[in-house]
Amino acid sequence: AINPDDLPFENSFAELPPAFYTRLMPTPLPSPYFVAASDKAAALVGLKAAELATDDFVAVFTGNSVPPRAKPLSAVYSGHQFGVWAGQLGDGRAILLGELKGMAGPMELQLKGSGMTPYSRMGDGRAVLRSSIREFLCSEALAALGVPTTRALMVTGSDKGVIRETVETAAVVTRMSPSFVRFGSFEHWFYRDKPDELRTLADYVINTFYPELTAEENPYKALLAEVTRRTARLMAHWQAVGFMHGVMNTDNMSILGLTLDYGPFGFMEAFNSGHICNHTDQQGRYSYANQPQVGHWNCYALGQALLPLIGSVEDTEDALDAYRPEFAARLDDLLHAKLGLATTLESDRELFDAMFKLMQDSHVDFTLFFRQLGNLRIEDTGNDSVIRDLFIDRTAFDAWAVEYRQRLRLESRGDCERKAAMDLTNPKFVLRNYLAQIAIEKAQNKDFSEVARLLAVLERPFDEQPGNEQYAALPPDWASHLEVSCSS
Ligand code: AMP
Ligand code: MG
Ligand code: MG
Repeated sequence: AINPDDLPFENSFAELPPAFYTRLMPTPLPSPYFVAASDKAAALVGLKAAELATDDFVAVFTGNSVPPRAKPLSAVYSGHQFGVWAGQLGDGRAILLGELKGMAGPMELQLKGSGMTPYSRMGDGRAVLRSSIREFLCSEALAALGVPTTRALMVTGSDKGVIRETVETAAVVTRMSPSFVRFGSFEHWFYRDKPDELRTLADYVINTFYPELTAEENPYKALLAEVTRRTARLMAHWQAVGFMHGVMNTDNMSILGLTLDYGPFGFMEAFNSGHICNHTDQQGRYSYANQPQVGHWNCYALGQALLPLIGSVEDTEDALDAYRPEFAARLDDLLHAKLGLATTLESDRELFDAMFKLMQDSHVDFTLFFRQLGNLRIEDTGNDSVIRDLFIDRTAFDAWAVEYRQRLRLESRGDCERKAAMDLTNPKFVLRNYLAQIAIEKAQNKDFSEVARLLAVLERPFDEQPGNEQYAALPPDWASHLEVSCSS
């Protein structure tokens, strides 16, 4: 068994000049306990979930004990929140311990909820059990779905009270990512008119995470173009799986194009393209339909910050122009896969548009619809009833299904082969809000078994999993009142 004091932490971010962060220690929590750990995330840094449950590891990943080779720090950044410049933000409740080398390269380990920092502003530096479990489960769920994301190693809890709308209890989620640098990390130096720091940060990011770009004629332009493409790809993934982030502020946008900062996120259930998952977002700036445009807007904010390094507006715009074609192409690929189409026709767009209109009109459950679509047979409607019953307007579905079948006849794959391919891209299991809520309520009563069980289900989202049918079910009536806000 590994002694956490021997963990071979390094910290490349800590080698940046001190202006980029504050070195500090986490604030201990009383009597911490183990809540959950992800074996798949642990494996990325050579650990095992079982050993993380021991008191020594719980102490380390609560922030009560800091391994000697860690160099704990909180990073400074700024950002645009809901489209408005917010000035300095920073890691108000997150502390980076350093990175551990794993099979897939170095991973930074960051404690979230580990106490106040110089960037806490009005906050208490804490995270509650509810939001920590949500971040933990969704990070691992998106990873299993093949969506680029930061990972979650484990969650610990403490009975220390934390005041939100009600009194809740404290928790710490240990997140992992090759880097937690955000678009807002660059905006910070641009708006402070600090070109040297801006360049230092850009060089660090390029040299460490995009070394192939150093050979480019203008590496800063190449960085913007690559981040723009990755962000476009990320948005295509989110749209295709029905994921809504909820708070796409530029301080929550990863420079690596990963899903970052899980707050009031949600998976689309009854389809409504205008759906707003964050109760606090009254204007719907971050609604499902708006996500792709906001992703582009956020890249513009990054482009503005990188402009002094790139050198010209033309080159900056040129890099940003990568967004639309990349998003369109990736979403098109993903939609073809979702419909089981191995070939592409000009007219497919009309088939997709008509499908989304039907889904919208009937408020069809997003996940159930695509999963059921795989059961449709080309020459026989005998299997249609389950999917047909998802629609209010069944005649409209029948009409669309005629078009869909005609399109499928132009493909060479048969029903079985097509269904097998569709089942690998249309998940049966996603983190529905009500599933998270059930696991959270049990955890709040110190029963953590449902968090573990739900994690195990979400780690295999494409498998049929007989015996876990209930995790694929539509939300019960009580869940229609669930609301998630920024409070976490
Ligand atoms: P978010 O909207 O969760 O991405 O957070 C925006 C900013 O608020 C970041 O700088 C966070 O670190 C900070 N923040 C959020 N909650 C807290 C908290 N409870 N204590 C301190 N800072 C916080
Ligand atoms: Mg944030
Ligand atoms: Mg946050």
